[in-house]
Amino acid sequence: MAKIQPDSGTFNDITDKVLTAPKKLALNDATADFAVICESRCYMVHRRVLEKESPYFEGMFRFNGVEVDDKKVKLSDVDMYLMKHVLEFMYNSEYTLPSGTVVPTTGYCNHTTAALRDGPLRGPAIFKRKCICSGKTLSPSHLMMHICIYAIADYLGMAALKTYAYQGATDVLHVYWDDEELELADALEEAFTSTPEDDRCIRDVLISTLKEHPGLWVDEGNVHEWLNDNPKELEEVESDWVVPWFSS
Ligand SMILES: [Zn+2]
Repeated sequence: MAKIQPDSGTFNDITDKVLTAPKKLALNDATADFAVICESRCYMVHRRVLEKESPYFEGMFRFNGVEVDDKKVKLSDVDMYLMKHVLEFMYNSEYTLPSGTVVPTTGYCNHTTAALRDGPLRGPAIFKRKCICSGKTLSPSHLMMHICIYAIADYLGMAALKTYAYQGATDVLHVYWDDEELELADALEEAFTSTPEDDRCIRDVLISTLKEHPGLWVDEGNVHEWLNDNPKELEEVESDWVVPWFSS
């Protein structure tokens, strides 16, 4: 019976390569040397990953505070589920939120207006462009999570995570802008209270969505009420917007 041989090299060569290959660090793995505590969760992480990925943690270690001796830090105001995604991003440069539906990679984008989405399948050729979210797994419930993660990322000084969360919020708004599960008024309140006033990314994508879809706020409802309570933002939303029945 023929002996099965590896494609190249001897078995010993391959074993050596496996043993000498650098091992990718992972959240909660056996070599973790520092604890991040949020609410009732304790995440075991690597100090060097925290230092590299977050100026907040880098500063904490440089200051050599009590956390360094204790080998743990407690972030009392941070949601434990969201912190898991923040740490996930530190290790993998991405995070995956629970649930969601895959946007089909076939077909054309039908998300820009409700009429296009609900209208006949054979729409005018001008609308036939591929969806910018094709293949992504999205859920309306993700909007609030992306916004909260954006705020945590800002606190921890993680610019790349802010960009990632911003892109996530943008994608969810593109597909689910009129979905009730979006809880848009709550999302607006969170974005305009938990992110810095001069940091416009998340704020602007929400304002743009309202500008693109006046039906979300023009008559009544939670978003209408939120805008009435926030006149500065109402002014922003109304600027450049031409009331259709007054336009020539
Ligand atoms: Zn689309």
